[in-house]
Amino acid sequence: MSDTSSKIDKDWKKELTPEQYHVLREKGTERAFTGAYVNTKERGRYLCAGCGTELFSSETKYDSGSGWPSFWAPISESNVATEEDRKFGMRRVEVHCANCGGHLGHIFEDGPNPTGMRYCINSASLKLEKEQG
Ligand code: FE
Repeated sequence: MSDTSSKIDKDWKKELTPEQYHVLREKGTERAFTGAYVNTKERGRYLCAGCGTELFSSETKYDSGSGWPSFWAPISESNVATEEDRKFGMRRVEVHCANCGGHLGHIFEDGPNPTGMRYCINSASLKLEKEQG
């Protein structure tokens, strides 16, 4: 995990791809069904593309049909943080990386058991670390 507490905008622009920057730092949303991990079923851990924090496990990934990678739980509640988002006249819950503040996506309450939650996450905010073997 790199030190991100003092990172300024200029640094993020240098380190991230334009797409990653748009999602993580400008709270952008990639178009549905265009992200790299929409249909990924490989085993591993999804890390924050900004700082490497472990965010989601392939074990909680499921096919929501939404067009974005969907998970029913984070690896640890303390690695993600949420905030109310009232953009576009909708009330949604935004989820971001607790370490670097990078925007990940939104949380909806229409997920599967056991949590009933859907973490709807942009592929661009994630980096899959595949399980060996
Ligand atoms: Fe992060």
